[in-house]
Amino acid sequence: MDDRVVVAGALCDRGRLLAARRSAPPELAGRWELPGGKVEPGEGPEEALVRELREELGVETLPVERIPGQWPLGRGRVLQVWTARLLSGEPTPLEDHDELRWLGPDEVHTVDWLDQDRPAVAEAARLLRDA
Ligand code: C5P
Repeated sequence: MDDRVVVAGALCDRGRLLAARRSAPPELAGRWELPGGKVEPGEGPEEALVRELREELGVETLPVERIPGQWPLGRGRVLQVWTARLLSGEPTPLEDHDELRWLGPDEVHTVDWLDQDRPAVAEAARLLRDA
């Protein structure tokens, strides 16, 4: 059986990466993640990412490249991550999050990321540093 894919965005703007603090469920609340969500049946992963970032943050984004690798989330789900550019809008925590923070490449370690997001965050920080 195929794993159900959860897509997340390493959203970059002006040399910084967006971190989002989860407000739910209780076991994840307070931890930071790359925003995203489940790919719906019939939807492509990049399409799902654009939709999720619009719903969760109220912004229009452009997926740029997939960060190599995927990370198990349990219950048959895997996390895949794309870098993305902010096209328009100011990210606002509309659902699932209670705080957002733009972090420079040397600040990404200042928040408590979900364990499964850490490899992609490290790679996104490396890409930002090299940009
Ligand atoms: O946001 P949503 O609840 O749709 O995400 C599904 C699951 O994917 C969450 O329960 C969370 O465990 C996981 N997730 C993650 N890292 C992300 C985004 C989502 O582990 N960056």
